[in-house]
Amino acid sequence: MGHMTTEECRRALEGLSDQIARYAELIVRKGAAVRPGQEVVVQAPVERADFVRLLVERAYAAGAGHVTVIWVDDAITRLEYENVELSYFQHTPDWKIAQLNGLAEAGAAFIFLEGSDPLALNGIDPAKPAAAAKARNEECRSFRDGMDYGHNVWTIAGVPVKAWAKKVFEDVPDDEAIYRLWIAILETSRADGEDPQQEWETHNAAFEKNKRFLNENAFDRLHYQSKNGTDLTIGLREGHIWEGGASQARDGAVFFPNIPTEEVFTTPDCTRADGVVHSALPLVHSGQVVRDFWLRFENGAVVDYDAVQGKEVLRHILETDKNAVRLGECALISKNTPIRETKILFYDTLYDENASCHLALGMGFPECIEGGLEMSKEELLASGVNQSATHVDFMIGTDDLSVTGIKPDGEEVPIFLNGQWVWENE
Ligand code: ZN
Repeated sequence: MGHMTTEECRRALEGLSDQIARYAELIVRKGAAVRPGQEVVVQAPVERADFVRLLVERAYAAGAGHVTVIWVDDAITRLEYENVELSYFQHTPDWKIAQLNGLAEAGAAFIFLEGSDPLALNGIDPAKPAAAAKARNEECRSFRDGMDYGHNVWTIAGVPVKAWAKKVFEDVPDDEAIYRLWIAILETSRADGEDPQQEWETHNAAFEKNKRFLNENAFDRLHYQSKNGTDLTIGLREGHIWEGGASQARDGAVFFPNIPTEEVFTTPDCTRADGVVHSALPLVHSGQVVRDFWLRFENGAVVDYDAVQGKEVLRHILETDKNAVRLGECALISKNTPIRETKILFYDTLYDENASCHLALGMGFPECIEGGLEMSKEELLASGVNQSATHVDFMIGTDDLSVTGIKPDGEEVPIFLNGQWVWENE
């Protein structure tokens, strides 16, 4: 099949404009659940200013009291890492701390528009982005805790930028790659129909069913097995809670932290993981790629690991702090989702993590243990909820993955078979 001409792309994108507007509306109304008078923060790539203007307009139409836009740009971020000393990144500048904490304390709704070159930081010393992320998480406390502890609503959604589109659709001309990435974003975000907001209500009902099954069974541990060598048992604490789909803030606001989202997830006991797990998809972290890797766990901690590509990046993740070697998340996702069906590798965790069952190293979720939102960090850790300055997802869901739930009395209940919920095999 031949490629589209520039004129064809222009017209095709124009034809998509109503659908893109519905997507903006979905992000504002369902993702961030913007309420009258609220401060709204939009972090976005400067390259997609056209969509950001539309989104800001929709936020005001939804009643936003004020909208703050924080622009980001891959090229400038790269220049910063190339030219500035590591020591600079070990602290967040005071003005940045004041900005983020101030907005969080004002009760802002945060909208993070993701769109960036997966290779933007290729060749950059991974210690720099790792230090910057750690400093921000530790020093911007109100901002970080506001989202972790349900004080602020937040949502992450994707927008196409050229370098990302070209990475996903190699050998396709620029304009066509952008157009195709828009289509893929709308499809995987369940925003390609007449009424995406209604679509998300229906989607959320399926989450409720799967969460109920897992929460009612109250498993003691999960056993993962796959032909690629994965044979891992992960412990779950009494009182753990499976989450997924919509979240609820402390003030009752219902929002979707991720668009798209397909995962049902909990926080495992960070002291109990034993066995080996192999990656099913590449891990893209801070603009760098880790491929074909495995981790061996003993008593909850990674004791050995290797990667065909990007072992160094993996090492930096694991060395972030003392508990970066422990798990903070396990998520179940059927292979029957719009994301997996596109067969596209997005090189972006927001999409790729929803293509497959995954685990995450680092920080656990306080909302995933009974009473967790009222606990101190020490109490959370004592309850098995990992505490770390990092949280890195990696995909383990192969097409043949099986997951068995084991109850405290030893009874075994199949959860996943052939990479999908047991009932999807029937
Ligand atoms: Zn996840």
